[in-house]
Amino acid sequence: MSPENTYESLDFIRTKVAEDLKEGKNDGRVVTRFPPEPNGFLHIGHAKSICLNFGIASEHNAPCHLRFDDTNPCKEEDKYVEAIAEDIKWLGFDWKNNLFYASDYFDKLYQHAVEMIKKGQAYVDSLSFDEIRQYRGTLTEPGTESPYRGRSVEENLDLFERMKNGEFEEGDCVLRAKIDMASAHIVMRDPALYRIIKRSQHHRTGGKWRIYPMYDFAHCLSDSIEGITHSLCTLEFANHRPLYDWILDQLEAPCHPQQIEFARLNLSYTVMSKRKLLQLVEEGHVQGWDDPRMPTICGLRRRGYTSEAIRNFCERIGVAKVEGTIDMAFLEHCLREDLNSRAQRVMAVLKPIKVVIENYPDSQVEELECINNPEDPDAGTRKVPFSKTLYIERDDFMEDPPKKFFRLAPGREVRLRYAYFIKCEEVVKNGLGEVVELRCTYDPETRGGNASDGRKVKATLHWVSADHAVNAEVRLYDRLFTVENPMAGKEKEDFTARINPRSMEILASCKIEPSLADASPGTSYQFERLGYFCADKNSSPGNLIFNRAVSLRDQWVKIGNTQKK
Ligand code: ATP
Ligand code: MG
Repeated sequence: MSPENTYESLDFIRTKVAEDLKEGKNDGRVVTRFPPEPNGFLHIGHAKSICLNFGIASEHNAPCHLRFDDTNPCKEEDKYVEAIAEDIKWLGFDWKNNLFYASDYFDKLYQHAVEMIKKGQAYVDSLSFDEIRQYRGTLTEPGTESPYRGRSVEENLDLFERMKNGEFEEGDCVLRAKIDMASAHIVMRDPALYRIIKRSQHHRTGGKWRIYPMYDFAHCLSDSIEGITHSLCTLEFANHRPLYDWILDQLEAPCHPQQIEFARLNLSYTVMSKRKLLQLVEEGHVQGWDDPRMPTICGLRRRGYTSEAIRNFCERIGVAKVEGTIDMAFLEHCLREDLNSRAQRVMAVLKPIKVVIENYPDSQVEELECINNPEDPDAGTRKVPFSKTLYIERDDFMEDPPKKFFRLAPGREVRLRYAYFIKCEEVVKNGLGEVVELRCTYDPETRGGNASDGRKVKATLHWVSADHAVNAEVRLYDRLFTVENPMAGKEKEDFTARINPRSMEILASCKIEPSLADASPGTSYQFERLGYFCADKNSSPGNLIFNRAVSLRDQWVKIGNTQKK
């Protein structure tokens, strides 16, 4: 983003941009664009494209346009436009005055289509969609020319105008480029340029248009109209590049942007296409686009991802020409790294069990000093109340511990973080034989967590004071899918069968230190020994809700080490 953010070795796109500048191409200008279709929410794959386009622009002090690619009224909505804009801003990018819509160009695009008809480079075809597909041929066989290919310019102009006026039904006819039905590039076999869509109201142009430009026609011309210099897109458009260039060449467009393709981001343990994400939402597998298990920007944000972590992730994965899959553990690693340096530490007990310290004065309360962030000396300290009755984590106690369990057990002494050594003297059970309370003693000589006689303990536990703790609901999120590639194999259409049934666990009666009583939504904390947690958008004082963004255990470090071996 900033000038100090230099790249040791430039990726192939940045290299190309730098070379073009050096050669004086485009009059020394760089203009990029991010062109989302407003038919869904942005996901982490889009973040890669956003970081690339806005990143390159800002490295050259150049503009990056935000252009909504709104050429299909059936699926596009204003609510998506707003959500997309919000997500880009949140990621930390600014399109300034350069906000555009492909629909702004509908009049111009129509004029260009008429121009192509007049030059004999486009015709109205009356074959059905199925017939057009059959006539297209295959990779090994050439296509067949449509019987309507020979229509005169006058007839084509008349038919196209009548298409525009709504005189035909959807599928009756399309406008096609007249290129070459035998071309080795299937995309060049008379591709469709305009189609009829009558049912839908366009989110911006309403009912004005009954015909809409196809992506291949609208995209190159929109790029050209806006003076884009480098049009970056994902690899699946590489096949379309001959058409991108052909259309601009025919129309003698004032500016001919260079399309450059890069590998899309794939991430393990999730799906990344808007269609699949929409299916997850519509079938109720998740609770909306911003469900914290979704790979959407709004889902990641709600989960506790920071924009810094996402930008850092995008920078570190780089851009390449070959597709691959990035390990989800690496994204999680980037978040941990960021929050480790910034998140305030607090104590929270998720599955509480009561501890009564028998020899602690009944009504005494001590305010113990706790460090806010050991990674950040400027973060200071806070006071946390300590009293006779506490909660600790149920998992931190075992009545009959195996050898390697070093935490609390009958007769054993442990440290309470920032407080004292305590020793478990007695276990209280209910009628069902379940442990409901631990009776302990404390050593007043260990205040602050160290014994004056130098004796050691093997575990340090987090705790909260029962009378002072605030209640909270905590949602433990895990990966949404049980397998690395939910779309692999024959069953890919039923990828929802691979959803992790334990991807969300709700703990309703957690106890949290009082400093979080008025935690504001979106703030992230490290719950000591547990992980990073973010106050949910629906969290409020009196009804606290925290989402686990990521646990403390870093699988990426492990993966990295085995790869090194
Ligand atoms: P999806 O395939 O998820 O439905 P899309 O490509 O249809 O996404 P668009 O709104 O058309 O979504 O995408 C806007 C821009 O983001 C395009 O330039 C597209 O190439 C890029 N993009 C989409 N998905 C990814 C991805 N996984 N990695 C990198 N860039 C992506
Ligand atoms: Mg697309």
